[in-house]
Parts: sequence; structure tokens; C-alpha cells
Amino acid sequence: MPSIVDPSVAAQPASYAVLESAEPASRPLLQSSRKAGGRPNWGPMFGIIGIHLAALLAFWPAMFTWKALLTALALQAVCGMGITIGFHRLLTHRSFRCSKGLEYILTLLGCLNLQGGPIKWTATHRLHHQHSDDEQDPHSPRHGFFWSHVLWCFTYDPSFDDYDQYSRYAKDLARDRGQVFFERTTVYWQFVLAAALYLWGGWPCVIWGIFVRLVYVYHATWFVNSASHTWGYRTYETSDVSRNLWWVALLSFGEGWHNNHHAFPRSARHGLQRWEVDVSWLVIRALSAVGLVRDVHLPDNARA
Ligand SMILES: [Zn+2]
Ligand SMILES: [Zn+2]
Repeated sequence: MPSIVDPSVAAQPASYAVLESAEPASRPLLQSSRKAGGRPNWGPMFGIIGIHLAALLAFWPAMFTWKALLTALALQAVCGMGITIGFHRLLTHRSFRCSKGLEYILTLLGCLNLQGGPIKWTATHRLHHQHSDDEQDPHSPRHGFFWSHVLWCFTYDPSFDDYDQYSRYAKDLARDRGQVFFERTTVYWQFVLAAALYLWGGWPCVIWGIFVRLVYVYHATWFVNSASHTWGYRTYETSDVSRNLWWVALLSFGEGWHNNHHAFPRSARHGLQRWEVDVSWLVIRALSAVGLVRDVHLPDNARA
């Protein structure tokens, strides 16, 4: 697909700098320390592998019901927005403003994707934007496709993985007692949801609503880091290797328009062309239309 460069709007990575000023000045090289001396990060490693193994139970006929499948699809539609609209476009990039109540609802939905708490997720992603595809990028495919997809989650980084270290990259959230609460309780919400699903539809709803859903949302999110920095077309000449990839955008509610996103990190809208379907943006626009969201950032700084 040909590149389309809109000369009327220059890429504006600098517009994000205001949120990134908290970076410590001297930080050890992340990838070097991880690959050379990083030990396994046992918790995430066992958790992620265990969730994949448990999801295999979905192939057991006794664990399939239409109710369970529909429940998982509905949960994915709602909880997935917690990552794309909540953790990513709101907490990391402050692409729009909303009430504290809605922010916490989106944060809770984000926690239900079991990708770490809001503060660590935000810190990791801000680091990715600061160091996109350079030596300190937490998950660049320049250090291996599978590294960028999942292996980085399996490796403990002594310069980043403890709260005192990573919270420096999200000081705004670390000052928010509500966000600190969600950071500390992230995992427990999954057990609350699992218990509710068991009461709702027995073990089939637990298998599909927790394990199958998590496997789906893990890979949909990881493909943004791996595939959308590897395949697809580049609309904007950013300093990284980010790309726009349609199938990742479909899997991840619009996050696959990743070259657009690196060019305009603070834009609430990632799909910028007519064919670049961005479900998260459609939801943000709807929330804006009913007054739940305001001050929406777009590439041309227009108000939505
Ligand atoms: Zn990226
Ligand atoms: Zn981002």
C-alpha cells in the first residue's frame, strides 16, 4: 500500500514531551542488562504460560457453551477498552480529559486484562515512546521479534522492574492514591471477576471469560509491539520503525495504526485515513458526544 503523507500536518513527537520530562537522567542500558544479566521474571513467566495452558481447556467439549463464548466476547469488548482507551490513550498519553470516576472505571477495566498495574503499564509505554526502537526500548523487534512480542515480559530488568524505579516514569499517576490502589490490587480483580463468572455460568464461563479472553488480549496487545514495528506501511517518517498494520488494528480496536500513533502520540485518534478503522476512537468520539469526555487531542489540535 502506498505511503500517504499529509504535508499540512508535520509529525509532532515533541507534543508528547511534556509528559515525559520525568525520565531519570542516567539510566543503565536496558536491553544490554536484560539480555546479558537479566534473570527470569518468574511471576509473569509462570502466569502467562499457565494462562495459555489453562486456555487449552476450551477445546474440551464439556467446557464449551454458547453462553460462555458470548460472555467472553462481551467481556473482551468492554475490558479491551480499558487497555486501549484507559491505560494507553488516557493514562499514558492524556489524549483526552474525563472525570476521575470515569478514569477509575477505565483503569479497573484495564486491570482486568492482567497486563500489570496502570502505573507500570504506563511507565513501560512511555519508555517505549521515549526510546522507540533504540537500545533502551523495552520491546523493540530490533532485538528480536519474539523478544518484542513476549520474551521481554519474561525477563527481570533490575533497572526498571521495581516500583521505586518504574514509578519515576509515571509520577503523575504515582501521586494519585486511586491509581496506586489499582497498581497494588491489579491481580485481585481477576479473582473477583473469575468468581462472578463461576456464579454466572460455571467453569465454562471461567475458562472462556478469563483464560481464552486473556490469551486473545495478550497477543492482540503484543502484536502492536512486535508486528506493528515489523510489517505494514509507513505514512509518516518517524524516527522509529513503527508501521500501520490493518489486521493488528482489527484485533486491537485500532491500536495497529501504530505509525500514525508514533507520529502523533497524543492524538486520541489513531486511524487517520477513511479506511483506517479505529474502534477505540469511535468510542472516544461517542463518549465526547454525550459529554463524558472533553479536550480531545487530534493531530491538527482540533477539538473533537
Ligand atoms: Zn511503538
Ligand atoms: Zn502510545
